[in-house]
Amino acid sequence: MKYDTVVIGAGLGGLMAALSAAERGKKTLVVSRGMGIITIFSGTIDILGYYPVQDTAPLSSPREGVERLISEDPKHPYARVGVEALEKGMSFFQEAVAREGVTYVGNLDRNFLVPTAVGTIKPTAFLSKRMEAGDVREESDVLIAGFRGLKDFYPAYMAHNISTSTVPGVSIPHFRGRVLDVDIGADGSGMSALTLARKMEEDAMIQAIGRALFCQVRDGERIALPAVLGIRGGDEVFRRLEDMAGTRIFETPTLPPSVTGYRLYRALESRVRASGIRLLIGYDVHDPEIRGGRVAAVNISMGKKTKRIEGDTFVLATGGLVGRGIITDRKSTLEPIFGLPVSGPSRRNEWFAERFFDPSGHPINKIGLEVDDRLRPTGDGKKHVYENLFACGAELAGYAALREKSGGGVTIASGFKAGRLAGEL
Ligand SMILES: Cc1cc2nc3c(=O)[nH]c(=O)nc-3n(C[C@H](O)[C@H](O)[C@H](O)COP(=O)(O)OP(=O)(O)OC[C@H]3O[C@@H](n4cnc5c(N)ncnc54)[C@H](O)[C@@H]3O)c2cc1C
Repeated sequence: MKYDTVVIGAGLGGLMAALSAAERGKKTLVVSRGMGIITIFSGTIDILGYYPVQDTAPLSSPREGVERLISEDPKHPYARVGVEALEKGMSFFQEAVAREGVTYVGNLDRNFLVPTAVGTIKPTAFLSKRMEAGDVREESDVLIAGFRGLKDFYPAYMAHNISTSTVPGVSIPHFRGRVLDVDIGADGSGMSALTLARKMEEDAMIQAIGRALFCQVRDGERIALPAVLGIRGGDEVFRRLEDMAGTRIFETPTLPPSVTGYRLYRALESRVRASGIRLLIGYDVHDPEIRGGRVAAVNISMGKKTKRIEGDTFVLATGGLVGRGIITDRKSTLEPIFGLPVSGPSRRNEWFAERFFDPSGHPINKIGLEVDDRLRPTGDGKKHVYENLFACGAELAGYAALREKSGGGVTIASGFKAGRLAGEL
């Protein structure tokens, strides 16, 4: 089988790269072992929350932070990608998911400050429209409403943690937690957010919850609900509940598995298929074939069956340590498909800072592949290893996504740019 562009990995980075290459008219394949981190993450797209990373005050303008970071840290992936590709990549992402009924709002000039299910306050630049009313800078108080038997969402705990949180310069309104008197049908072991989100699409459930919200909410309050208001992208459940409650509501992503991440994956997957891209999930990619300084083909296996896939260009979007795009043993760190050089501390005792909550994070989080300005992995001599191999996402070295709150932004921007560059060759 032969393709113009072969994308390895079906996480947020791989799906963005594939959509961007296909937009250039390239015959594109995505081949992946699994669906990536996107299905467990909260679904907010973080551009840059904190810079310098030790700062306790969130950035109000991600754009200003990224521009400063690019001038001060030339090894950061944003310095390779550039602000223009970040901006274009985010618009491209918003358009792609909007076409599948999922609306993302935001821009590079302002961070939202939204509560999390554990009661922390998170800066993020783009989020599902259903989370928009949650910004803690709004003055109105908040009723956090939960459900008896729903796992991993505890309104009183969340309200308590928010009430003890501080954000410099922000006066946080009052949050109170209540468990609604609605039978969601959970058994003794509890119900997952994904199961409840499916049940939420039943009319009787919407009616019961709408009535309970109307009885509980006080004048002037907004309502926070766990992100379970339907499994699909459409807004029907959300709108009906908002009408019945008579006030604005917003979703708070639950702990993994996350319904918001799942909806986002489904929207991107559906856009990928609608764009004529072939998507193969469940395949391990291995044993590349190299000819004349270029990747000519890779082998893919499911169980004992192996196939050979040829391509003109390849995008490596296999993730970092979590996605197993980078693997470690006691002596080394390794990019397992192409054997590319991995940047980061080589000795295990240098992986971690002494304090668990070290404000600068742990060096292990910055492990990954160094790339040139065309996002091609570089070898020890700093020249690209293969002319037609590009990399993106969590695979890239030099940034601490969770600490800086930059994971989604780096992944979308680098996926978008890698796909464009692969599509141009
Ligand atoms: C728990 C967690 C929560 C996060 N939450 C957020 C958040 O709320 N907001 C935010 O902006 N960022 C968040 N991030 C950052 C997030 O990691 C990145 O934004 C992004 O999802 C990384 O995507 P990726 O496509 O690069 O990698 P991944 O999602 O890891 O995808 C890698 C893909 O490659 C495949 N693969 C790997 N090896 C092979 C192989 N040999 N053959 C075939 N396929 C292979 C995997 O199956 C997978 O599909 C979070 C990260 C973590 C770990």
